[in-house]
Amino acid sequence: MAQRRRMQVAGVVQGVGFRPFVYGLAHRHELGGFVLNDARGVVIEVEGAKEKLDRFAAALVEQAPPLARISALETSEIEPRGEREFAIARSAEDGERTALVPADTATCDDCLRELFDPADRRYRYPFLNCTNCGPRFTIIRGVPYDRANTSMASFELCGRCRREYEDPADRRFHAEPTCCPDCGPRLSLELERAVTLLREGKIVAIKGLGGYHLACDAASEQAVARLRAKKGREEKPLAVMTSEPELLVELGVEEEALLRSAERPIVLARRRADAPIAASVAPGNEWLGVMLPYTPLHHLLCADFAGALVMTSGNLSDEPIAFENGEAERRLGAVADAFLSHDRPIERRCEDSVVRAAFPIRRSRGYAPAAIPLPVPARKPLVAAGAELKSTFCVVRRDQAFLSPHLGDLDTELAYRAFRTDLELYLQMLAVEPELLACDLHPDYLSSKWARGRGLELVEVQHHHAHAAACLAENGETGPALALVLDGTGYGPDGTIWGGELLRFDLTDFERVSHLDPVPLPGGEAAVREPWRIAAAYLERAERPVRLADWPRVRESLKVNAPLSAGAGRLFDAASALVGVRERVSYEGQAAIELEQLAGHVEAEPYRCREEDGRILGVELIAAAHDDLTAGRDRAEIAAAFHEGVALAFSEACARAAEPRTVVLSGGCFQNLRLLASTRRRLEEHGFRVLVHHLLPPNDACISFGQAAIATYASF
Ligand SMILES: [Zn+2]
Ligand SMILES: [Zn+2]
Repeated sequence: MAQRRRMQVAGVVQGVGFRPFVYGLAHRHELGGFVLNDARGVVIEVEGAKEKLDRFAAALVEQAPPLARISALETSEIEPRGEREFAIARSAEDGERTALVPADTATCDDCLRELFDPADRRYRYPFLNCTNCGPRFTIIRGVPYDRANTSMASFELCGRCRREYEDPADRRFHAEPTCCPDCGPRLSLELERAVTLLREGKIVAIKGLGGYHLACDAASEQAVARLRAKKGREEKPLAVMTSEPELLVELGVEEEALLRSAERPIVLARRRADAPIAASVAPGNEWLGVMLPYTPLHHLLCADFAGALVMTSGNLSDEPIAFENGEAERRLGAVADAFLSHDRPIERRCEDSVVRAAFPIRRSRGYAPAAIPLPVPARKPLVAAGAELKSTFCVVRRDQAFLSPHLGDLDTELAYRAFRTDLELYLQMLAVEPELLACDLHPDYLSSKWARGRGLELVEVQHHHAHAAACLAENGETGPALALVLDGTGYGPDGTIWGGELLRFDLTDFERVSHLDPVPLPGGEAAVREPWRIAAAYLERAERPVRLADWPRVRESLKVNAPLSAGAGRLFDAASALVGVRERVSYEGQAAIELEQLAGHVEAEPYRCREEDGRILGVELIAAAHDDLTAGRDRAEIAAAFHEGVALAFSEACARAAEPRTVVLSGGCFQNLRLLASTRRRLEEHGFRVLVHHLLPPNDACISFGQAAIATYASF
């Protein structure tokens, strides 16, 4: 006696070979019916003997394709129709659109074999892909995910590609972006030509998955220096693409796994002393960001060039990455000597992701737009606008938070435009119309101004409360908890700059238990670029002599432009300038990064500082460092004692606060591995449970998610 079941499958089930998989499964179990994509995911109807239906249902979950993520499966019994054949039916366009869009995926091994097989008809074709790999998020215009809804719509399949696409036994069965040299996209420049130019030390702008890279020979000091000068990037490390990462960096098990994952992020690993690359790729930095080639074009480039390539985002300084053909030529024309472009449009920008073994630093290509679950579902669809540096936004549909890719620093008109267009695209893709908005309390952030101008219900969230909430919510919890939030800058409700905070909080509210004692920043923003100014302000507060030629002049600025800052980032800047690591910086966080490297694994007793009326006297750490320096103590030991001192001061503040017994750690300073490890160890010794970031970056890129968690709770 035949039964018929209808199954609605939700999750990442479109564009990952799910329908062909279901088709094959139904055939193996001799079931009739159909499978189709709809706006919510995949719908299956199967008909046959009960035992076979049961086995089919079990296999559906257990054997799902590698890139599929089933988040919900609803099954109902329906009236049998006597159907014997199984078919892939046309997509249903109507209904509420909640299907999850898959992320872009690195070229799979099967496709790689074809790419380098002279007998294959796709031999050396830079755009080959299949159901298990290729572009997704960056070519999608809407859901359901079908070729017609991607930027491949304008490339009509040739006869042979069509046969593969329609053959259930073929590995390209319903591979939406599939194509070949006869019917697919083409390069704008001969690959050989591009490789020759790179060998000659030229800069080539290369169109990738989510935007353009600027590429040059990573071994050529001259080429790298020229790229830096033209891009306006003095010292911030540049990422390198290589098919032999083991020549450049030391790889642990975790780094190796991340490098080879389908997401193919840039992985920060320790640079080998004998790495055959120019020193100027990552000056003064022990860490190097490396990635493997992840598109067929990259594989061909790396194979033909036979060396490591600098592959840095196609932009000037911290602007959004260029991704449209005309736009790229306009913006990068003065930097690049040539363009290796192609005619497959990129629908949305998506920069490379950057990760460390423990946590991401930039969550973007390969990860976006995968949803991060919220601990409670939102009653209303909402948008959280994020912060300003390392900007992201976050769109919430029920209990799913969809973070944007990295948008760069939201302090230029160009970046603000990108924020608005990318948000519009996200809302379209997710079919969300927000009824609630969240933003930072800051009066001047462009993201906050945008949110305030929409005329919708608005939740304004304090910067460090958002940090704390992000870490708590990504760990699936709602609090209450304590939070140590150590970062550079965030607007405090009292009008001063916060950033060295111990909060007691949950997803509705927070209390500032204690904080770093604020110091004036002589010259405001200028002090962030010139940490010696902050060191001088600290030394003066510590009643130590300031022996700096410029100080008398800069000291005058204390009277006119010296906002108070409790930012832990500034305390690190001061220590760094004091021990002579870094008096000026050319990118955010540089001074602290170099201080961390100086400290290395050197052991030292922590410097001590007192807390008075909820103010942690960071000035005493600087005074101790100054006195040791004057006494001729080793600088690495001073850097180590300072790191341990910060960790000790904040963990003891938690111990005094005592309750609750969970502490979350967030803020850009916790990208400092020594600070993170030491703080964590000390808190655990006090018996606290410690939660850290692992899905989201500890820096301001997590702010939008934290705002979303708080606004969700507010709407609950
Ligand atoms: Zn493939
Ligand atoms: Zn073709």
